Amino acid sequence: MMINRYGAPCPLCPTPLLLNVVQVRSAQSGFVQRERVNGRHCRNCEAARPEQWNEVMRALCGDG
Ligand SMILES: [Zn+2]
Repeated sequence: MMINRYGAPCPLCPTPLLLNVVQVRSAQSGFVQRERVNGRHCRNCEAARPEQWNEVMRALCGDG
């Protein structure tokens, strides 16, 4: 299941990043077992400075 959530502040501006989070739930209990950040977005920076934004995202996505 994919949810959106605000996370840590954007590296380029004070706005919190919008995270696309994939949740893995236990089939038995329904509790969230694991979460994986699938994407990060900042509307300001994606629009205002896409080149810088892409560089930052490349660095962040390296840690998986
Ligand atoms: Zn930003």
